[in-house]
Amino acid sequence: MKFGGTSMAGIERIRSVAARVKREVEAGNEVAVVVSAMAGETDRLVGFCREASSLYDPKEYDVVVAAGEQITSGLLAIALQAAGVKARSWLGWQLPIHSDDAHAKARIGTIETDALLASMAAGEVAVIPGFQGVSDEGRVTTLGRGGSDTSAVAVAAAIKADRCDIYTDVDGVYTTDPRIVPRARKLAKVTYEEMLELASVGAKVLQTRSVGLAMKENVRVQVLSSFTGEDAPMADTLPGTMIVAEEEIDVERQLITGIAHDKNEAKITLTSVPDKPGAVAAIFEPLAAANINVDMIIQNIAHNHGSTDVTFTVPSADLARSLEALNQAREAIGFGELVHDTRVAKISVVGVGMRSHAGVASTMFTTLGARGINIQAISTSEIKVSVLIHEDETELAVRVLHTAYGLDAEAA
Ligand code: ADP
Ligand code: ASP
Ligand code: MG
Repeated sequence: MKFGGTSMAGIERIRSVAARVKREVEAGNEVAVVVSAMAGETDRLVGFCREASSLYDPKEYDVVVAAGEQITSGLLAIALQAAGVKARSWLGWQLPIHSDDAHAKARIGTIETDALLASMAAGEVAVIPGFQGVSDEGRVTTLGRGGSDTSAVAVAAAIKADRCDIYTDVDGVYTTDPRIVPRARKLAKVTYEEMLELASVGAKVLQTRSVGLAMKENVRVQVLSSFTGEDAPMADTLPGTMIVAEEEIDVERQLITGIAHDKNEAKITLTSVPDKPGAVAAIFEPLAAANINVDMIIQNIAHNHGSTDVTFTVPSADLARSLEALNQAREAIGFGELVHDTRVAKISVVGVGMRSHAGVASTMFTTLGARGINIQAISTSEIKVSVLIHEDETELAVRVLHTAYGLDAEAA
């Protein structure tokens, strides 16, 4: 069982989580629980690091930001004990949860389970702080924002759990963010591949890495709500959304499974780049060297004097470093102007159905065009089409596409 930040926000919520865990124990289950920090806490801790120094040491940043989960794991163990359930916390370094040393975005390696399994077999609920691990040097690491989902899947894989239930503040995965489109529909099942794609293009209900790991390790993952009463159906009846292999999807599929948006990209345009072999390489080499992930790329048609404009997107957080790297390479690239825009949003439609059906992209472009929404860049994969638009048009675009692909729920 994994509980996210809003589910752990305050002692009342933690007591309610304890009651939910107790129900599962009383139903005869052995339970390991992975917890997030209280909602807002990790942001607060990150803020302290930035305030202390703009050039903070990532190793010390991890010591600070991992603390939020240490607090909630101890509190949940206390709340469980108070409810008459045997429980103890296991910090990342105590199990340990081994990770690499890429501080602030570490990857989990192996998790030692002997002591954990012995304690669980003896009837003790294990409470494990998400988001944290320990490097080979014995230093605390964190897994990147939203990383408790990945901790939960990794623990589930390591102890060969029957299922990994991710409890959050919505009751499953929806066709799009239900906070933006009230008529979004809950999906009973979604494939690993689609969930991976949806998460990577902005559906933050699960961290992308957690889905990749679940797919690789064959972990059965369910997303469900922790905001339900004592009479809520048990998790075993699968009230939430199951992430499953493609073979497990039986019904005739919708063409599109879901729509996601992402406002965390910035657009960069280089004007008057020479239209010759190697020109594009000269742009992207310095970005790769600076470890910056470029996402959407378009190269415009050449102007008649042998030059062209190149537009692409990078994570907003990497914009300043990108501009610096490009300016430093100005001689080698030979561009005219360097223009950027952070007021953009990427809208993506995802579905395995588009492998076998034509017209998905065309519907997208027509629908947006009819609403006067201008498309600034496009990218596609086998099961996804993404467009870049003005940020102010995000909600409108998601809503009209949701309707256009027939995803709206019946009006209540
Ligand atoms: P937690 O703190 O439990 O990890 P998150 O805030 O990380 O919760 O993720 C849950 C949120 O994800 C929901 O409140 C919802 O607004 C958002 N979300 C985005 N896309 C979707 C989607 N397709 N289905 C469900 N929730 C989504
Ligand atoms: N507390 C961490 C974060 O906010 C990890 C998590 O909640 O998944 O990113
Ligand atoms: Mg989350």
